[in-house]
Amino acid sequence: MKEFKPPFRILLGPGPSDVDPRVLKAMTQPLVSHLDPVFVGVMDDIQKGLQDIFKVKNPVTLPISGTGTAGMETAMVNMIEPGDDVLVCSAGVFADRMVQIARRARAQVQTIEAPSGEAVTPGQLMRAIEKKRPKVVAFVHVETSTGVAQPIEALAELLREDDIVTIVDAVASLAGQPLDVSANGLDFVYSGSQKCLSCPPGLAPVTLSPNAVQRLRSRKVPVQSWYLDLSMLEQYWGSERRYHHTAPISMNYALREALRIIEEEGLAARFARHRDNHRALVAGLEAIGLEMYAKREVRARTVNTVKVPDGIDDAGVRSKLLERYGIEILGGLTDLKGKIWRIGLMGYSSQRKNVLLLINGLEEILSEMGFSSTSGAGERAAVGSYERVS
Ligand SMILES: *Cc1c(COP(=O)(O)O)cnc(C)c1O
Repeated sequence: MKEFKPPFRILLGPGPSDVDPRVLKAMTQPLVSHLDPVFVGVMDDIQKGLQDIFKVKNPVTLPISGTGTAGMETAMVNMIEPGDDVLVCSAGVFADRMVQIARRARAQVQTIEAPSGEAVTPGQLMRAIEKKRPKVVAFVHVETSTGVAQPIEALAELLREDDIVTIVDAVASLAGQPLDVSANGLDFVYSGSQKCLSCPPGLAPVTLSPNAVQRLRSRKVPVQSWYLDLSMLEQYWGSERRYHHTAPISMNYALREALRIIEEEGLAARFARHRDNHRALVAGLEAIGLEMYAKREVRARTVNTVKVPDGIDDAGVRSKLLERYGIEILGGLTDLKGKIWRIGLMGYSSQRKNVLLLINGLEEILSEMGFSSTSGAGERAAVGSYERVS
């Protein structure tokens, strides 16, 4: 076998996003064991850093060894007991995944649906919980399949009582757009390392409110998954440091460095950077003549969705972007296949130079394919957008 040398890509899809070189460097540090006193220090730093970005004081805040979906599965299997009523605000592929996992945990699942590209409304949620009060309500903050951000404050406002545990998927939003877990009274929030945190995929940070911990402690039946059982995991990450499984050491080095980078940048500055790059991207895309997919009022800042123009070959455009510019963007999932592009501007990928390169690349490729030729209008609009905010 020859040495494997992957190309340098610019990852502007809905995940993974580019990894900060500092994070890659941290991953090459010597291995220590998962119970080494030095590693215990790393664990402490990670827990503190995660509490800061979730905006919580929750003692049970830790990274699950697994990807974002492991975070989702951890939430469902720890918070649900067989027969529990669970309500999922369903507005895309990842919310549908929540439904499937909740059903496997033998919940009675109800859903409220939003039209694709739109958010669930507080009115819908209110009617649903009045009709049948569920034990768990789950929703996705930034739905990566549609580019929609759910109105988290307005939904959370209806879910303040302790008899309902609120589960929120923040895989594509944590550290990319504002999310205040404790101020909104959210009970169980999970994320993933490879989106706005700009690590490789492999860890899923989770945080549990006192109410979620109470729900965990009062379970009548054990959590169906041994690996994801938080009542044991909290003993490894808590003061006992009792062995549960061998933590992926190098991934935890990566997460620690990513949290250090976030601390240096500051959350407010980081959110502003994501917002400004999102606005510039939208301005540029619209100036080329493209149309955004997600409705303006509910557009996420981290994952952008744009309609593929009629008669344009979705995959053809994407492969030219990859060949000529090394840029990856992705197409739509399920019924949106061939209809939208999904452009992520998350973490280290959310940079002005990436926005401008993508806009110029798209403009060039689209004009070759016979779509309007606007020569430079995209870049001018994007640059104008940066000038307005600065
Ligand atoms: C990416 C993503 C997931 C799944 O994460 P994996 O790391 O692919 O397992 C779940 N929810 C949302 C909103 C996502 O964007």
